[in-house]
Amino acid sequence: MKALCWHGKKDIRFDTVPDPTIEHPRDAIIKVSSCAICGSDLHLYDGFMPGMERGDIMGHEFMGEVVEVGAENKRLKVGDRVVVPFTIICGECDQCRRGNFSVCERSNRKKDLADKAFGHSTAGLFGYTHLTGGYAGGQAEYVRVPFADVAPVKVPSTLSDEQVLFLGDIFPTGWQAAAQCEIEPTDTVAIWGAGPVGQFAIRSAILMGARQVIAIDRLPERLSMAAAAGAITINFEEESVVERLNELTAGKGPEKCIDAVGLESHATRSLDAIYDRAKQATMMETDRPHVLREMMYVCRPAGILSIPGVYGGLLDKIPFGAAMNKGLTIRMGQTHVNRWTDDLLQRIEEGQIDPSFVVTHTAPLSSGPEMYKTFRDKHDGCVKVVLKPGH
Ligand code: NAD
Ligand code: ZN
Ligand code: ZN
Repeated sequence: MKALCWHGKKDIRFDTVPDPTIEHPRDAIIKVSSCAICGSDLHLYDGFMPGMERGDIMGHEFMGEVVEVGAENKRLKVGDRVVVPFTIICGECDQCRRGNFSVCERSNRKKDLADKAFGHSTAGLFGYTHLTGGYAGGQAEYVRVPFADVAPVKVPSTLSDEQVLFLGDIFPTGWQAAAQCEIEPTDTVAIWGAGPVGQFAIRSAILMGARQVIAIDRLPERLSMAAAAGAITINFEEESVVERLNELTAGKGPEKCIDAVGLESHATRSLDAIYDRAKQATMMETDRPHVLREMMYVCRPAGILSIPGVYGGLLDKIPFGAAMNKGLTIRMGQTHVNRWTDDLLQRIEEGQIDPSFVVTHTAPLSSGPEMYKTFRDKHDGCVKVVLKPGH
């Protein structure tokens, strides 16, 4: 089959690779109808995440049709149309039973690597680093889904791929980012990053009834998309974010702050040095935590910082004293996708939100290498890319 494979920094190739096969009786094989490129894929593309190997199949946002099921899989049948969450979950361990799916204790087949890097293992992820299992991803014609009798979400044929695809990652990610802010009707929610995750966080915060939602980015097309949803916008290249946020909140600061940027905001220089260190160590150092710094300084005392943005290793120069003295609550993590999918699918079916708004580019899987570049460089008004295998 054909798949997009990682060959090193800024080197994604459209390769021919072996078809996946059932390896465990709970597995299923999915024929991918649509997949997407995520901001998290860019951390691999940029070479910021340790633990990638040449030839790894990329992609953790995908959906399609079940074409084969293992003998013990009683939940799926051939022909089912499913969206597959990016977090692989066993459904049975202590953490899965508590709904803490992104820290499933059994789905990471390379626990030893994760233990070393993080102190404990976290869930297996599709198409991500070997610290999270090194599972083949879904930017491919076919993909093997482990524990496929637990996480895949069956979706009705009345909804298009573009309406349901993002249930596997960025919609629940934006939703969880807002949910963990415990939004009150009087709240101002400030969201750094108006990329795909930021866009869903903005719409989620609005659906949750925030008084004022403020989106911060530098890209006009992304800020316009945020404004169309009802957000106030700040272009961080044109004005001081901290000053403007204080102005918009009568000097008190936003109660709730969301970092929907992650590594990108820190990694603006010495990329090669960072990459070399990342290859040597299991952890990676960066030294420019702009977004986190701004959030900690500007957040109203007793407020909440919610961090869906992905970080790979050590961070330096965080104003921890500000966070401590102001009594801030900090929540972060990979998304517990299956905690939210039933509710969010229902909201899509009811027409409360149509996630397809975020798609600006649709292309065949074979154009993946160029589309990675377009999405990475934010060219051509690109907000979200959907790729179609077999075209
Ligand atoms: P993206 O790269 O498309 O968007 C990031 C946006 O942040 C860009 O629009 C960029 O212009 C903006 N930005 C950069 N520096 C900024 C700054 N200093 N202030 C304000 N904005 C700034 O990525 P995305 O797909 O939207 O993903 C965003 C983050 O969410 C990434 O770190 C990604 O890895 C992470 N993510 C996390 C989860 C999870 O489970 N926690 C899931 C999906 C994605
Ligand atoms: Zn993602
Ligand atoms: Zn589990």
